[in-house]
Amino acid sequence: MSNTLLKISGLEVAYGGINAVKGIDLEVREGELVSLIGSNGAGKTTTMKAITGLQPVRNGDIQFLGKSIRGKGAWDIAREGLVMIPEGRGIFTRMTIIENLQMGAFLRKDKAAVAEDLERMLQLFPRLQERRSQLAGTMSGGEQQMLAMARGLMARPRLLLLDEPSMGLSPIMVDKIFEVVQDVHQRGMTLLLVEQNASRALSIADRGYVMESGVMTMQGEAGSMLADPRVRAAYLGE
Ligand code: ATP
Repeated sequence: MSNTLLKISGLEVAYGGINAVKGIDLEVREGELVSLIGSNGAGKTTTMKAITGLQPVRNGDIQFLGKSIRGKGAWDIAREGLVMIPEGRGIFTRMTIIENLQMGAFLRKDKAAVAEDLERMLQLFPRLQERRSQLAGTMSGGEQQMLAMARGLMARPRLLLLDEPSMGLSPIMVDKIFEVVQDVHQRGMTLLLVEQNASRALSIADRGYVMESGVMTMQGEAGSMLADPRVRAAYLGE
């Protein structure tokens, strides 16, 4: 049994008087790709924000590597190796591709390894190599998503959270993004993927969770969830 990297128990998050997350449990083990699916407004992004210290926790606990990170600041959490690529990507549009990648590694002190990783990212994402000196804002949405992924990887995270990486992309770019996520996972990265594209997200995952109106309604091995008639009816349009 591999190590548990992230363990969420009884997590509650609220915006003022509105409970967006109502006591959820979730676990990610080392080396896993876990997909969190659910329709609009289910509370997925709020959960991600709570994990990364961007939204206060009302109740429950979040443990990373066996220690509670509840109440810690976003910087401290990132420094421990928990990195999020947010919905909307959050790249620096007025910086070049290379500068964006360097920003991803700004918490690292191992300069030689950072330089190596930079080269590795440019190999992994040939499009970024071609456009390395251009401003990130000039790239297409799909290319910017690639850059956001590469920048996240530059931090050498222990756990990478991806919030809706396929959102707003053309079908071809969606294919590419899922290919890259799968590839990164096969190279050993542990990932928690939030997606509305349930069938794609489950088809590349080890395990999955379904969230609805702030609660977890289903969880299990991704393959069996994909075959589950309830999942197929609610999320795969059958
Ligand atoms: P989406 O896929 O649309 O991002 P989601 O599953 O990520 O959906 P959340 O964005 O986490 O859902 O939203 C959960 C609930 O919290 C929704 O009812 C939403 O309206 C509410 N909510 C989100 N952000 C805020 C905010 N800043 N202030 C008040 N309510 C919010």
